[in-house]
Amino acid sequence: MARRSAALPRGVGQAHPFFAERADNAEIWDVEGRRWIDFCAGIAVVNTGHRHPKVMAAAREQLDKFTHTCFQVMAYESYVELCERLNAAAPGNTPKKSFLVNSGAEAVENAVKIARAATGRSGVIAFGGGFHGRTMFGMALTGKVAPYKIKFGPFPGEIFHVPFPDALHGVSEDESIASIERVFKYSIEASRVAAILIEPVQGEGGYLPAPLGFLQRLRTLCDAHGILLIADEVQTGIGRCGKLFATEHYGIEPDIITLAKGLGGGMTVSAVVGKAAVMDAADPGGLGSTYAGNPVAVASALAVLDVVEEEKLCERSMLIGEQMRARFTSMQARFTSMAEVRGLGAMTAVEFCRNGDPHQPAADIATALKDEAARRGLLLLMCGNYGNVLRVMVPLTLSDAVLEEGMDIIEASLEAIRA
Ligand code: PMP
Repeated sequence: MARRSAALPRGVGQAHPFFAERADNAEIWDVEGRRWIDFCAGIAVVNTGHRHPKVMAAAREQLDKFTHTCFQVMAYESYVELCERLNAAAPGNTPKKSFLVNSGAEAVENAVKIARAATGRSGVIAFGGGFHGRTMFGMALTGKVAPYKIKFGPFPGEIFHVPFPDALHGVSEDESIASIERVFKYSIEASRVAAILIEPVQGEGGYLPAPLGFLQRLRTLCDAHGILLIADEVQTGIGRCGKLFATEHYGIEPDIITLAKGLGGGMTVSAVVGKAAVMDAADPGGLGSTYAGNPVAVASALAVLDVVEEEKLCERSMLIGEQMRARFTSMQARFTSMAEVRGLGAMTAVEFCRNGDPHQPAADIATALKDEAARRGLLLLMCGNYGNVLRVMVPLTLSDAVLEEGMDIIEASLEAIRA
């Protein structure tokens, strides 16, 4: 195993020294025949579970037709159908248009490109702790510095970061809004800002849901200054937070939304969905790429949307989240390092701090939990600015039995490491 990893640069991280052989719904078997419960879902990707039969059948059917033409060379109807479905499902009543690319980073980059084209302005306001991808522009927009931005600069400019509301660490909603006002006053006039870019629930930054009224305040601020509001729903979308789009919880209509991860059910496809008038700002040929909207991935995505609807996975996502948070909350009395339990829908997190003190982030406890759980056959992943947040991202199709089995392992692991 070590020999195989040594073939790769250090920069390609590997949370666990194990190699997958096959997977089914919420379980993975490694090359040594060990069974794993998957509480990561490929980082919130297989929302419909590993190898959902309907998604697999759709992909297989497309494999037998054609795998690639490049939409710009020879178009295919499934691409348009997927965009139509996303347009219809996106929050708000303003007519929408969409197009497809391959990854989250690409979707976010293109969303900002369109915002710049539509407004004729260059400035972008994003959030500390935010994550938007590992391309140069994605990293420039990303507020979370380590490890993503270390050694790679300089980055594209005209991007300004403000604090994300975070009650546990003393950042109020008011403070966040005041920081934006300060950017307008001291760094770039509001009239030169194209977009405010926000994850409704900050993902890599620590699974922090934006407070309910915050997105509404951003919407009002954007409207007052002709700024576009971009919701990066790469991680929060496709049922992860209990709605197809997490912004539906907030009662606002973003100008542009990015989707990726859960959309393809394990195949690579991402989307930029936005108000039609905004989306038409770029000139023909200015958007897309060779592989954008690959036909097999698009077939999977269409099946994913069907499965989410047919199996009521948004409702299931809400229940999963409630069930998990209830269990975590009941553990808090015994494990003093569990400083906060939070989340939205199935996006669930526990922040570990020494003695529950938010000023003492305890990445060592989070890492010990991950390793102990791995010894017991449960796959976990951490996030947060200090790596001290357990984020649970189960396939939304998992059974209650597997869910409870995984939660039992977490509880037993916390006991074993004396968290
Ligand atoms: N935006 C958000 C909110 C994300 O969570 C991620 C990935 N974690 C990205 C963008 C980048 O997506 P990708 O890795 O597919 O480029």
